[in-house]
Amino acid sequence: MDSRQRPAESRPEAEHLVDAETRTYLVERVGEAAVVQLYADGFGALGLREKVLVWHLGQAAIAGRDIYFDQRYAHNLDMRELLEALLPGWPALADGDREAIVRYTKLFWINTGPYNNLTAQKFVLECGPGALAAAARDAAARGARLPLRPGESVDGMLARLAPLFFDRSVDPTVTSKTPGEGRDILTASVNNLYSGVAMADLDGFEETYPLNSRLVKRGGTLVEEVYRAGGRYAPYIDRICMHLDAAMPYASPSMARALQALVRFYRTGSNDDRRAYDIAWVADRDSPVDTINGFVEIYMDARGRKGAWEGLVYYLHPDKTAAIARIAEHAQWFEDRMPWDPRYRKPRVTGVTARAIEVVIETGDSGPVTPIGINLPNDQEIRELHGSKSVSLSNVLEAYEKSTPRSFRAEFSWDDDEIERATHWGAYASELTTNLHEVIGHGSGLVSESLKGMPEAALKEQFSAIEESRADLVALYFIADPYMVELALIGGQDHEGVVRAEYESYARNALVQLRRVREGSQIEEDHMRNRQMIVHWLMAHTDAIAMARREGKTYYRVGSLAVFRAGVARLLAEVQRIKAEGDYDAARSLMETYGVHFDPALRDEIVARVEHLDVPSYTAFVMPRLELVHDAAGSIVDVTIHYPRDLTAQMLEYAEATRAERLVMLRVIAEEQ
Ligand SMILES: [Zn+2]
Repeated sequence: MDSRQRPAESRPEAEHLVDAETRTYLVERVGEAAVVQLYADGFGALGLREKVLVWHLGQAAIAGRDIYFDQRYAHNLDMRELLEALLPGWPALADGDREAIVRYTKLFWINTGPYNNLTAQKFVLECGPGALAAAARDAAARGARLPLRPGESVDGMLARLAPLFFDRSVDPTVTSKTPGEGRDILTASVNNLYSGVAMADLDGFEETYPLNSRLVKRGGTLVEEVYRAGGRYAPYIDRICMHLDAAMPYASPSMARALQALVRFYRTGSNDDRRAYDIAWVADRDSPVDTINGFVEIYMDARGRKGAWEGLVYYLHPDKTAAIARIAEHAQWFEDRMPWDPRYRKPRVTGVTARAIEVVIETGDSGPVTPIGINLPNDQEIRELHGSKSVSLSNVLEAYEKSTPRSFRAEFSWDDDEIERATHWGAYASELTTNLHEVIGHGSGLVSESLKGMPEAALKEQFSAIEESRADLVALYFIADPYMVELALIGGQDHEGVVRAEYESYARNALVQLRRVREGSQIEEDHMRNRQMIVHWLMAHTDAIAMARREGKTYYRVGSLAVFRAGVARLLAEVQRIKAEGDYDAARSLMETYGVHFDPALRDEIVARVEHLDVPSYTAFVMPRLELVHDAAGSIVDVTIHYPRDLTAQMLEYAEATRAERLVMLRVIAEEQ
């Protein structure tokens, strides 16, 4: 599971983009997105061995990036090839066309294809088809490599791809978990995790590779195309394994064991090897460097089973880890006091390891748009038996924080006290809540034995939003507990202010996040659904939050903190029951009533207020870039870190790294379509 940034509190704005060392965070604005440089300050202080390890793991992260493009949309790699071939011709384009093609290409990289990462809806190229055709012909004349099928002309290719670039009604939604009455969640979702498969086809079908396969219906039969060496994505997987092998000599013994298990899983794809890898990864608790590389989060799959590929490399942030580790050490204390049926409390909490980290690179499902916290593995049974590892992405949080605009908070706060609290405590409360969410929230609780450790199978498309609700509610419940002061996580005299700042921020977010869904009246993203659900459930069932209006503007005001917390406890008991019993109908009704639908008039009001402030809807990060330094004899003597502040250059560099693999993949895709 990961947690995504709550938009209300942290947004880059030009005037806040320079810190004490006058380095810039904001690189550029692209439509609704801000592009921000990520800094990894502690890298220089790592030993040479760790630096070289990070370099190899970074190469492995870049090697798998195309996989996520293909998983997200079957036409993504073709479309990206064409867009990248046009790039040397950008300066020669007419002004309006250039602006449209450049903006589209950057949004395509940021969102990994033509679907907004928050709304799941398609965005289109805003120039005439003639402009794209002219640019493509210029590229062909320059000798650029275009994604042509065997025997296909440039015009033929353009005719084939044009609807994908220009027509919003062709393949409109990447993931649709609530497609409306009578429609199927798989066929309504155009992602490439399934091909020609509807939910009804899966009745009585047992998957051998639930997490790491594409399900295809061929001649009336279901086939699992396994993501492994020799299977789907074989050229990329071979390259990933090569870099992981090269990394092993530099890893600690426990990390080397985990990397070996990961390579083995990539080779066989088998569920047993996946389990062995998860167990080995959790067992590595001490390495200063760590990586996540594989098919991990299941949010993109409407059915909640298939893992989206991602690659992350990071190292420990020792100072911040001390605070988060204190939470983890007392995990049993929290578990014993969970406000739900004692049957679903863990009698013995195993190995929750929590750390604050600095990210060096994130690709695939976690980059350029990144989570702020991650807790893995997702396998419920392994979590219960072996524990889990939780990380808080310190330098990502810092980059958001360094650029928080006061004007934005002020717009949605009721009075000066609320603004003051948000300014003073907002970041602190938000980091603590994220840590509680990841370390205590996702790690907590038991499910009924009848679910065989797989509540996601029973809760289907509702699972992720329910699980995120559960983790948020645990955090909201415990941040108000006097134990926070006992653990010295919050000073006694500050406690009330911190809790009120957090509750107010949480309530404001339900309004502010609506700006991210510019069309329709429905939320698709699971973290957004869960936050909408919690706030509106509290409004419907308690006096914790009240709607107020002033001068045509809507506000959500928090009343008594005790009432808020009691409401959170009541809802948490029900959400845990739903997960533990796999109560699909209750999950669906809860989400449909409070989490999915919103009033478009309210959204329009929020959008107008935000546009006035010119605040982006989401942030994409340019990753640091590592370079090997050799001596005269060719040995590596150092690895240096650089901050390119250039999204385009980085995207082209990453694409170039897997050019040979992509040629093979594009041939496979051409044969399929
Ligand atoms: Zn989460």
